[in-house]
Amino acid sequence: RAQQQGRGQYQFYCPEIAAQLQERLALENELYGALERQEMRVYYQPLIDLQSGELTAVEALVRWQHPTLGLVSPAKFIPIAEANGLIVPLGEWVLRTACAQSRAWQLAGFPAMRMSVNLSARQLEQPNLVDMIRQVLAETELEPAYLELEVTESALMVELERSIDTLKQLQGLGILLALDDFGTGYSSLNYLKQFPVSLLKIDRSFVQDILSNPDSAAVSDAIIALAKSLRLSITAEGIETEEQLEYLRQRGCHEGQGFYFSRPVPAAKLTQMLESCSQQVQVA
Ligand code: C2E
Ligand code: MG
Ligand code: MG
Ligand code: MG
Repeated sequence: RAQQQGRGQYQFYCPEIAAQLQERLALENELYGALERQEMRVYYQPLIDLQSGELTAVEALVRWQHPTLGLVSPAKFIPIAEANGLIVPLGEWVLRTACAQSRAWQLAGFPAMRMSVNLSARQLEQPNLVDMIRQVLAETELEPAYLELEVTESALMVELERSIDTLKQLQGLGILLALDDFGTGYSSLNYLKQFPVSLLKIDRSFVQDILSNPDSAAVSDAIIALAKSLRLSITAEGIETEEQLEYLRQRGCHEGQGFYFSRPVPAAKLTQMLESCSQQVQVA
């Protein structure tokens, strides 16, 4: 519908864009109270050692249990929370929840695994980030070596010098650092060697068509080779098929994460998976 705005002037009106904007505004309004209304949930997705099949880590992924919309994907609300700053309290809540959960699994006697938590650019900018994280680890009694923080290159590039300094402080605490969605950002190799990270995560977009698209295969191969020569550990995201798993395993990718192994699940579901895994180990 084009609305006439005086002689010869038309304003273009696109119902689809308007509807998207409406949805975003409505979500943003409700997002403000969502944490207090206890509508946020943390789901956990396993990371698997591609040689041994062991569950080595879990990634904490936030979801919004909306009263009418159901489970809302972080792809919908994380960008909003990053834009308006809500990601700062939300990210802290996810971290605290994930660390407490990790400690609870340890106390229940499950084998040690890393807890991986995503950190956004806005959080990296917070002057009290390192103190906040130290405080959360103390409160939840989780050893820093079991916590891994995932950052993207684009988040680091916002304020490069300061970000590197922050990462070094976090590394100093004994926390592990991973570069998330690797291959999609600026990927300046010059910066890469300055980041005190111990792990690269190959982005899902390359893994997705690794068998059908030679370019994706070439990028994945190159990332694996790069990680090896820099002595970094390497995880592939978004493994959905046995063939993708085989391809990556044969090339020496250390870890994998994806629907082939498990979708992100609530803590109780992961506890069940851990129970059945340890039983399998006992039987073998
Ligand atoms: P990410 O950190 O790269 O997380 C991996 C995403 O890939 C997750 O999406 C996960 O569900 C999805 N995934 C894993 N395996 C597969 C697969 O085999 N197939 C497909 N199609 N997808 C797979 P999710 O949970 O929707 O999260 C999307 C993004 O939202 C995350 O990407 C991360 O950037 C952001 N996010 C999620 N939770 C948090 C959080 O607590 N804090 C921050 N700052 N960002 C978060
Ligand atoms: Mg991640
Ligand atoms: Mg990722
Ligand atoms: Mg990704």
